[in-house]
Amino acid sequence: MSETASAPANFIKHHIDKDLENGKNDGKVHTRFPPEPNGYLHIGHAKSICLNFGIAQQYQGSCNLRFDDTNPEKESDEYAKSIAEDVQWLGFEWQAPTHHASDYFETLHDYAVELIKAGKAYVDGLSPDDIREYRGTLTEAGKSSPFRDTSVEQNLDLFAKMRAGEFEDGKYILRAKIDMASPNMNLRDPALYRIKRQHHIRTGDTWVIYPMYDFTHPISDALEGITHSLCTLEFEDHRPLYDWILDNISIDCHPQQIEFSRLSLEYTITSKRLLNKLVTENHVSGWDDPRMPTIAGMRRRGYPPETLRDFTDRIGVTKKDNIIEMGVLENCVREHLNSHAPRAMAVLHPLKVTITNYPSGQEESLTAPCHPSNDEMGSRQLPFSKEIYIDQDDFRESANKKFKRLVLDKEVRLRNAYVIRCDEVIKDAEDNIIELKCSYDPDTLGKNPEGRKVKGVIHWVSASKGIKAEIRSYDRLFNTANPAASEDFLSTINPNSLTTIKTAIVEPSLATATAKDHFQFEREGYFCLDSKDATADLLIFNETVSLRDTWAKTGKA
Ligand code: ATP
Ligand code: MG
Repeated sequence: MSETASAPANFIKHHIDKDLENGKNDGKVHTRFPPEPNGYLHIGHAKSICLNFGIAQQYQGSCNLRFDDTNPEKESDEYAKSIAEDVQWLGFEWQAPTHHASDYFETLHDYAVELIKAGKAYVDGLSPDDIREYRGTLTEAGKSSPFRDTSVEQNLDLFAKMRAGEFEDGKYILRAKIDMASPNMNLRDPALYRIKRQHHIRTGDTWVIYPMYDFTHPISDALEGITHSLCTLEFEDHRPLYDWILDNISIDCHPQQIEFSRLSLEYTITSKRLLNKLVTENHVSGWDDPRMPTIAGMRRRGYPPETLRDFTDRIGVTKKDNIIEMGVLENCVREHLNSHAPRAMAVLHPLKVTITNYPSGQEESLTAPCHPSNDEMGSRQLPFSKEIYIDQDDFRESANKKFKRLVLDKEVRLRNAYVIRCDEVIKDAEDNIIELKCSYDPDTLGKNPEGRKVKGVIHWVSASKGIKAEIRSYDRLFNTANPAASEDFLSTINPNSLTTIKTAIVEPSLATATAKDHFQFEREGYFCLDSKDATADLLIFNETVSLRDTWAKTGKA
């Protein structure tokens, strides 16, 4: 992928370059993306995916997909499937096979036994409260559990019984024996295994003990021959433990953990736990609701995968936490769609226009380019006849010169068609404008009218051939820039994040649109067919992004 291959240099690549210069890892680069299948992937994961797979591509290495499935109570096949689909959709291939931390449960268990035999791990029967208390604080050393000096034989026996299911959940844990006085709390005899009777999506009920992340991750990395284990900054303090585990078991490979900052986006959240809450409490229609910052949501909204890759390149990789403005992401989408999306016309709030001097019963087919500057995208046919629709917003009975649309007794150009003049306004009993009587100048197709200038151009759709459609337009999901920081993030949900317009009429060429197509509805924005709710009888379009950046000052109007 050229975009990714040309991604800018960053501190991680400098690190890898140095390793290669020093002949480390036999000149190989092997990364992994290790999601936990406990939710759908979000934009933050997209950054991690592009980074890991991008580096593998750039160095002609490989990247594994590994499900970090050590918390069975939160994990599901649905999540695992969606993750694999999202990675592929983003344009990446992992090195077969798909890995799972659970592939290594037996091996991990054997390494735990090895640590016990070396006197480097022990089974602790303190209560969780006592364990917490014994751990000490940042300013105070912890104190040793009475179980710390249990003999190796006894520990082996207790651990075997833990595995055999002889103890209730939570009664014992296996802990590494490192240093209860370490200034790094992660080294104060961290837990390696806990007892948990929980059905696992892959290993079923085989296990009643499950390994902890800090034990599982370095060993899984090493077993797969990972050279550089890239993770987010919150694991920086865990790196000494990552290294301790690998230094104290009989394994040859020792990957280098390197941390980078998490991606956060303004006005949204990047935490599966909170996103899960939005879904389960029905604040959105699902993980793939187009307002969600999930990859599935953004796909359904109409973000092309290359725009997410472009976005992650633009924000770069650093060690500094920062919150990226939504406009940066949307601009990537907008720029891409501006050059790639064919144009179409859709009238969201139709106002009927009768062209009085156009012959009744006549219809002509006008040819319009699909893109104003890319002829290769071809053209489309627009049926034109006596009755058309324009948008209610594009007409005023009187207006000053700034209003470059249709005004009573003035002219405007219909996009890809003729110049019309509004001669008469028809109103209903409540004074609502319900129809315009206009006349057209037949000599204005593809050329300026004789002797006068018509500046405004508006879009339109044939009344008889246009197709009814529903338009869903989206605003920010939250009203505050950093909803995760507020006490109750649910209270910051924007109640107006979804607007459904059921009155729209779109040009007939859109009848064959598929969810993979992207369109610019001229003067309205970028849209795509909804992949879930649209049917043969009802076209439903999602607004992907507006034509211009409406976030910069006040957010979307
Ligand atoms: P969440 O808090 O959303 O559950 P997580 O880190 O627990 O995220 P994992 O499934 O464990 O989710 O993440 C898989 C990989 O994606 C990890 O390497 C993690 O560091 C990375 N990742 C997760 N969130 C972000 C983010 N916001 N920015 C960059 N990378 C991320
Ligand atoms: Mg996690």
